[in-house]
This record gives sequence, structure tokens and C-alpha cells, in this order.
Amino acid sequence: MSEFCVIGSGISGATIANLLNKKNSVILFDKARGPGGRASFKRMKGNIGFDHGTQYFSPKTPEFKKFTKDLIKKRILKVWGGKHIFLNSKKKENKKHLKIIGKNGNNDISKYLLKKINCNYQSELKKIHYKNKLWHLSFADGKLRSFKSIILTCPFPQLKKLSKRFINNSFLKKSIKMDANITTMIAIKKNKKSNSSYLFEDPILGWAGNENSKKRFKSKYDLWTLQSTFKWANKKINQNKNNKKENSKIMIDKFFQLSNIKKTKINFSLNHGWKYSSNSKPFKIKSYWDPKKKIGVCADWFVGPRLESGWISARDLFKKISR
Ligand SMILES: Cc1cc2nc3c(=O)[nH]c(=O)nc-3n(C[C@H](O)[C@H](O)[C@H](O)COP(=O)(O)OP(=O)(O)OC[C@H]3O[C@@H](n4cnc5c(N)ncnc54)[C@H](O)[C@@H]3O)c2cc1C
Repeated sequence: MSEFCVIGSGISGATIANLLNKKNSVILFDKARGPGGRASFKRMKGNIGFDHGTQYFSPKTPEFKKFTKDLIKKRILKVWGGKHIFLNSKKKENKKHLKIIGKNGNNDISKYLLKKINCNYQSELKKIHYKNKLWHLSFADGKLRSFKSIILTCPFPQLKKLSKRFINNSFLKKSIKMDANITTMIAIKKNKKSNSSYLFEDPILGWAGNENSKKRFKSKYDLWTLQSTFKWANKKINQNKNNKKENSKIMIDKFFQLSNIKKTKINFSLNHGWKYSSNSKPFKIKSYWDPKKKIGVCADWFVGPRLESGWISARDLFKKISR
């Protein structure tokens, strides 16, 4: 029996699984088809695709700076070059701010950290139950599995639903609303002069990233990842599944209008709604661990809205478990 069961293969789950695996046996489950969580990579064809969640990261803390520097040396990560256009007067541009991305996709960090872990995808955890010092987990495929220790890394609303009967801590009583995001991925006619990204000041479209500028693949098309503002997505997300075509069209029209790129035929288009994209109000604690019941939680939303926040939370949890 594995000592630790980790739910989630995003940065939080991958980091804690990697740290625990050095001295324990670890098994990981994720409901998605592959690793990365909100930093996953959507394939269009072969290695051609889109970073449709996390766009890039700019390390803030010395520890995460060191971690990413080591991964750049190992060629897991790299700096996203080219021309990044900053068009938002409400935000302050930091010109020194590096944009770091995965060499092949932004789920490369999770892939790297999970290399030695027993990972099981398309395995959705539906219910947890604690009895006789064991955690009994029911999965969507009907399977029941038991573990001594479990670590959950889901977005806050999903975590609350799964664990509220078993975690008695004030952090779980908080009512936070994670912002939504609507992402539209498109492939359009190639334009040799394309910039790498745009940060817009617009009520609907917040960002556009040019996937070709990441120099991971060659394609006869230009691939763009368009991301909405939180405000617009918060209003649209509950109906996005039914209105994908209409919402994508609004974002694509905005993209051509705001970037001044000549409007062309859309050769491919895909819409992904993120109901729980991020939380920008940090909690008092960075992670949670109950040493008696052996249940732990780590996730970005404890610390902040970025990928680095999940990494910090997972390392904080590891310290608590190791005490
Ligand atoms: C659109 C978007 C853009 C973003 N842009 C940036 C950016 O540019 N820079 C940046 O630093 N951050 C960005 N972020 C935030 C960043 O993606 C997150 O902070 C980070 O990826 C969170 O990692 P995590 O491991 O805590 O959670 P997640 O990545 O959400 O991982 C949780 C995992 O748990 C799995 N899971 C959940 N419930 C269950 C269940 N019941 N059973 C099994 N598995 C389950 C999920 O499938 C998922 O893989 C962005 C997020 C979004 C959505």
C-alpha cells in the first residue's frame, strides 16, 4: 500500500509528490488526461499546440528563482524571447521581468517532477471517507482505494466539497470566489512580423500569446492563445459551454481589432472555460496538515494567483509533514 496518495498533477501536486517520494512511496491520481493542471498544454497536432492555462512565469522569491534557473540549465524550461507588447496603462510594466516557459509546453515542470511517480490519469476522486486510521477514496470509475495519508491539491471550491466533513480548520470556512477565465485558441494565416504577446487594456480581452514565438514547433499557421479578462469571464463562464462559438467570436474580433493584425480566415479554433482560474487574496496559512488523520492540502490559492504560489504551498506542506 502506498503511504501517500496525492490528488492532482499541477505544480502543487507534482512538487509535493516529488518531495515525498524521496523517502516514501507515493501514488498520484488526476482526473485530467495528462499532467499539469492549470498549466497544461493543448495539442493541436503532434507537438504543435497551445499553453492554454499558465502563459509564463516570472519567479519572485529567491527559492523559486533558483529552482527555475536549475531547470533552465537542465533544458526543461527556457526564456520566452521576442517582442512582448504591453498596452495596459493600468498596470506597471517591469522591463526586467523574465517570461519563463516550458521547453515543449508549460506542463514540462510537472512532467519533470513526476518522472519517478506512479501517476494515474482520468481518475476522478468523487468522495473521501476516514475510518480505522485509513482514508477510503471512491473514484468515478467505481474503484475504491485506501491509503494511510492523502494530499489534496484541488481548486478551493472543489476541495471544500470533498473534504469539509474531515477538515476542521477555519481556512475551509472562508468563502472565496476564484476568478474565471475564458481561453480561445486559434490558428490563422502566417504573418512573419508577428509579436510574441500582447497585454491589452480592454474589458473583454486581456492577453494574446503567440505560440510560434516560443520556438517549440514549425507550423504553416500562426497559433494564438487568447485569454479573457476575469471580469468578463466571471459573467460568462456558467453559460460558456452553450455559448462557446459566440464567446470565441467576440474574443477573436477583439484580438484583430486591438492587435492591428490583418483579419484573416480562422483555420482552427477551440474554446476552454476555466471556472476556477485563480485567487488573489492569500490565506493566513500556506498549506494545511493534520498529523493525526494524515490529511494535507496544498494549492496556489493559499498563497496567491500564480504557479509559483502552488510551488511555495507544496514546499510549506512538505516542511509540516517532515516535522
Ligand atoms: C487561464 C489561466 C491563466 C493563467 N496564467 C498564469 C500565468 O501566466 N502565470 C502564472 O504564474 N500563473 C498563471 N495561472 C495560474 C496557474 O495556472 C496556477 O496558479 C497553477 O497552475 C495552480 O497549480 P495547482 O497545482 O495549485 O492547481 P491545478 O493546476 O489546478 O492542479 C490541480 C489538479 O487537480 C486535479 N483535480 C482536481 N479535482 C480532482 C479530483 N476530484 N480528482 C482528481 N483530480 C482532481 C485537476 O485536474 C488538476 O490537474 C493561470 C491560470 C489559468 C487558469
